[in-house]
Amino acid sequence: MSTGTARSPGDRFRDVSLYAVDETVCAIDVSDNTNLWGAPPAALRTLRQLEGSALARYPEVYTSTLKAELGRYVGFDERCIVTGSGSDDVLDCAFRAFGVRTGEVAIPSPTFSAVPSLATVNDLRPVAVPLTSDGDVDVERTLAVGARIIYLCSPNNPTGALLSRDRVTALVENTSGVVIIDEAYGEFTGSTLTDFARTHDNVFVTRTFSKAFGLAGLRVGYGLGAPALVAGVEKARGPYKVSVAAERVAVAVLREDLAWVRARVDDVVANRESFAQGLDQIGVSAMRSRANFVLVPVLDAQRVAARMRTRGVAVRAFSNLSSAAAALAATNGSALRITIGPQDVMTRVLDTLDEAIRACA
Ligand code: PMP
Repeated sequence: MSTGTARSPGDRFRDVSLYAVDETVCAIDVSDNTNLWGAPPAALRTLRQLEGSALARYPEVYTSTLKAELGRYVGFDERCIVTGSGSDDVLDCAFRAFGVRTGEVAIPSPTFSAVPSLATVNDLRPVAVPLTSDGDVDVERTLAVGARIIYLCSPNNPTGALLSRDRVTALVENTSGVVIIDEAYGEFTGSTLTDFARTHDNVFVTRTFSKAFGLAGLRVGYGLGAPALVAGVEKARGPYKVSVAAERVAVAVLREDLAWVRARVDDVVANRESFAQGLDQIGVSAMRSRANFVLVPVLDAQRVAARMRTRGVAVRAFSNLSSAAAALAATNGSALRITIGPQDVMTRVLDTLDEAIRACA
């Protein structure tokens, strides 16, 4: 992310690289924070029952059936909900709707790596604001950017920390811009900041079916906010963004399988704690996480990850995470992000990590 003003929007667009992930298949993939228990049973039942005649026609223009069902799930009026093809898409549309050409987007660092690119391709200028040493948002420095859009992520990817309500309140009440709160991992926390989208007309919260709901492959996300904000995002989104299959499945899971989703969340929380204990036993520590992943500062993360991959385990490696957090500063921002899954998976990940750290020492 650059803070320079000399480069033109065209230069910045040219510099955006495609999202690069290693797609070679690994026996165990704990690199992308998806649901490692798979998809809810209602999803598969619904897909099997899809009739060809439904696939031959366009889906609902703006997903009114899904919005009605989501309204019950999150306790929002349908006019306050917009859906999209994954929450990436909802964020993209929100940047287009709320941004002013070449204006700034204040983005905490480190956070979800796709966000600066999403800002840039929408002709906005991402400005990085380091998180504080306790992993929270820096209110003063964020407000000092004077941005039209402030992006926040809670719990934050990749650190796993929740943002404090006090700091979010301070930002929301002292900015003249819009605050986007990305709650992709909200289900895992037992708390939410969605109420800000109900009480403040400058807050837009994004959420997804890709994590706790186990439906990343179907691409469904949504945003919550005041009707005027949502209308803008819907305009930027355009019609028919969620496929027939995706909408039917999302509706079925909300109606029939919330108990499955909640049980998987409970599994994640339990396994996250036992995995953290296992890490302590092999001499490394996870940063405290409220999400379905942990960030583990280790020296030489890229090499450790490459070694793990040769042994059938894919993790996400970071090299230069800027952070005032002591644990990350100690490894110069080198860390592994590991998704939490079923117990047998985590045992194998721990053994492989242990071996790789020794081999790379
Ligand atoms: N926000 C955050 C913080 C994420 O980590 C991700 C996916 N890794 C997304 C949004 C996008 O998820 P999706 O488009 O699958 O909803």
